[in-house]
Amino acid sequence: MATVSSGAGPQSQTILVVGGGIAGVTAALEAAEVGQDVILIEREASLGGRVTKLNRYFPKLCHPTCGLEINYQRIRRNPRLRVLTMCEVTEISGARGAYRATIRRHPRFVNERCTACGDCAKATETKVDNPFNYNLDKVKAAYLPHEHAFPMRYVVAPEAIAAGEGEKLKAACAYGALDPDDKGETFDLHVGAVIWATGWKPYDPANLDAYSYALSRDIITNVEMERLAAHDGPTHGKILRPSNGEPAKKVALIQCAGSRDLNHLPYCSRICCLGSLKHAAYLREQYADAEVHIYYIDIRAHDKLEAFYDRVRADPQVSFIKSKPAHIRIGDDGRPVLHGERTIEREIYSEPYDLVVLATGMQPSAVSGYRPALDIASDEYGFLVPSERDDGGIFSAGVAAGPLDVSMSVQSATAAALKAVQAVRAS
Ligand SMILES: Cc1cc2nc3c(=O)[nH]c(=O)nc-3n(C[C@H](O)[C@H](O)[C@H](O)COP(=O)(O)OP(=O)(O)OC[C@H]3O[C@@H](n4cnc5c(N)ncnc54)[C@H](O)[C@@H]3O)c2cc1C
Repeated sequence: MATVSSGAGPQSQTILVVGGGIAGVTAALEAAEVGQDVILIEREASLGGRVTKLNRYFPKLCHPTCGLEINYQRIRRNPRLRVLTMCEVTEISGARGAYRATIRRHPRFVNERCTACGDCAKATETKVDNPFNYNLDKVKAAYLPHEHAFPMRYVVAPEAIAAGEGEKLKAACAYGALDPDDKGETFDLHVGAVIWATGWKPYDPANLDAYSYALSRDIITNVEMERLAAHDGPTHGKILRPSNGEPAKKVALIQCAGSRDLNHLPYCSRICCLGSLKHAAYLREQYADAEVHIYYIDIRAHDKLEAFYDRVRADPQVSFIKSKPAHIRIGDDGRPVLHGERTIEREIYSEPYDLVVLATGMQPSAVSGYRPALDIASDEYGFLVPSERDDGGIFSAGVAAGPLDVSMSVQSATAAALKAVQAVRAS
């Protein structure tokens, strides 16, 4: 949790970007490419944020690498941009043109000499939940965050060190890259402006009691569906029932699971309908006989993506059912059963499925225990929106600022970069 202190730093024209998702990476590059010194900090072991965990992303339905790799090339070419991973801001103070940010670097136990050869992974016997796959599977405790990670460097989970494997891993590394004594560090940065690009987290499905997420492995969320469909996911891209590994051929996609609901997220996350249309397409590409039922309140396919909606709607094996399911029970055969009423036909249904996908919305990261310091205002939902009472050197970008898709996040990041450049040059 960041705290505010009164000490300012010296004058600086460096821009600090917090959060290395698509928005933070974009903001950092745009500012660095007009000649500003930029420091980009990311709390995870690699950049890319949640976009890296998508199987494919619209509008072009390409793999995340197609958008991210070009940015990583720009980072490699730009000496003005410094990237610090596994870092968080713990304290920030000062004013526009002279902030002091205290940074905590968490131990990675692997230094920049790592060649990503993987010998440390071979040496460890410890396994940990795989955060890249939303913990749907396990990974060796010395691991590459994912196959396109930037930086392309292994990370050792603290569990391997706690299990007493530190010296064994060090001995296995021919490059001197393993440092079991890494304790992390705390240091100060002096910067003139700060862009918060801390993004989002999926709304917690455990809050949706009626949808029984905890009762069946065959009730998953939309972000988990992205991993099930991904070639580097827990099932190597086959969409299988987590409970028994059988193909998921009759699938329900529940829209607005917690969204547009005063008890949960009162707002629309904008991308969930398109996310589910994408999931219907994944299923139909894999299984010629798949049956997909989309339960919706209204379908919101914004701007040019209406054509994608039309394409999915034309598929006779994809049905759109206007209804908000009342609850999900587990049937005698272990399959989840949806109960509710078809709003248009006024018919009660009780329908079993192989797999149910909850389209949960995006909640700003800043609401969950981490609040940026300084006087940045947030709206009633926790999105960070600088206002006139801020001091003119603090900005927000991407989903930290509001529920946006990738192209909108990139636009908002470019705008934030321009404002930050103006702020440091004017101070
Ligand atoms: C199911 C689903 C499917 C989607 N599919 C698409 C799609 O096909 N096309 C599309 O355009 N959009 C899609 N989206 C939306 C897309 O994921 C977002 O637009 C995008 O992730 C926004 O990027 P961001 O950088 O703002 O946030 P994030 O991706 O969340 O990145 C934020 C980064 O900040 C880091 N961070 C957070 N807090 C801190 C901190 N305190 N200190 C340091 N670092 C921190 C995080 O680790 C993360 O790396 C989808 C969303 C969902 C839910």
